[in-house]
Amino acid sequence: MSIEISNRLTNIPFSSIREIFDEANAMQKSGINITHMEIGRPDFDTPIHIKEAANTALQEGFVHYTANNGIQELREAIAVKLKRENKIHVDPNKEVVVSVGCKEAIVSMIFAFINPGDEVLIPDPAWLEYQYIVELAGGVVVSIPLREEEDFILNPDDVRGRITSKTKMLLLNSPHNPTGAVLPEAYLKELADIAINHNLLVLSDEIYEKLIYEDAEHISIATLPGMFERTITINGFSKAYAMDGWRLGYAAGPEKLMKPIMKVHQYNTSSATSFAQYGAVAAYMGTQEPVYEMVQEFDKRRQLLVKRLKEIEHVSCVVPQGAFYVFPSFKGIGMTSKELATFLLREAQIACVPGSAFGNYGEGYLRMAYSTEYKQIDEAMDRLAEALKQVKVKG
Ligand code: PMP
Repeated sequence: MSIEISNRLTNIPFSSIREIFDEANAMQKSGINITHMEIGRPDFDTPIHIKEAANTALQEGFVHYTANNGIQELREAIAVKLKRENKIHVDPNKEVVVSVGCKEAIVSMIFAFINPGDEVLIPDPAWLEYQYIVELAGGVVVSIPLREEEDFILNPDDVRGRITSKTKMLLLNSPHNPTGAVLPEAYLKELADIAINHNLLVLSDEIYEKLIYEDAEHISIATLPGMFERTITINGFSKAYAMDGWRLGYAAGPEKLMKPIMKVHQYNTSSATSFAQYGAVAAYMGTQEPVYEMVQEFDKRRQLLVKRLKEIEHVSCVVPQGAFYVFPSFKGIGMTSKELATFLLREAQIACVPGSAFGNYGEGYLRMAYSTEYKQIDEAMDRLAEALKQVKVKG
């Protein structure tokens, strides 16, 4: 008996981050100590007051389906947060949908608006899931290259040059995974003009918004003139509150765009987990001190990692302004990024993700997450420098 998979899945691979993760775990099981820099999640625990709020809700019997768009308290907390921190004004009853992670909000938006053949502009490199979500929906990904010499900041001219009559959506992610780049206001303004002139929808994935360093400032594109009506702001709790396993996120935007998103969300999930949503209310309404402390610690690790990488011959490194990734170039080493990632795993016991996993323009780079302890990063960099000495650099 042979059962064929759907056509829609034929060209969709499993995530390649998993491959490195699985090999690293197998090595770990055999007794080898691995420094994990491949996984995109905080190494902190969820703050205690958030856990307690969810725990209380669970004990009190909040164990049933909630409204499809999420509990009232959480939608209101999100609306307050968006107003206070992002200057986005939404009606909590009609313009916010609580989703199962930020990812589900992205899937819902793409399935709500993308028809087969519609083009979606996506920076390259980018979080690899975007591409496959768009392709699952039948859409066509149009890559916009990000360049190391431009600090991986999306260049509006590159966007302009790739617009066709089929372009439907522009996908933005600032702070950016995997490069840590943060879009400055002047660039956002230009991108907003392009979106308005070409009638594009904008998906703004702001999941790393609170992980931001130095003088970088996070600006939500939805707040620029004429943008609210065409932008869906997507955010969540996974990164800033170390709640990735809770699976909670949200989409917010004008009612007219939120209705179709709500429809996809409803048929896919019914609602996000009931008691977890009470934890998210505490995340937004409670103390922000744990976020502040986590960001301070990430910043120390960021500075260490950048400094150590810059000391290594044939390696260059843009200083990331946000998220918890560094995206150094190893182009001078003369291996593909996949070969190099495998080499570093085996020779230096460091797990990181080949840049090629993030798109065509990621080749030659590695994504290193500094969501691992300071001391471990320091020691890993000793091993990395030592291992690279073994490599004969192609002249
Ligand atoms: N967007 C980006 C850019 C991410 O890096 C991630 C997680 N790595 C997500 C969305 C998914 O977030 P969540 O866990 O809330 O689904």
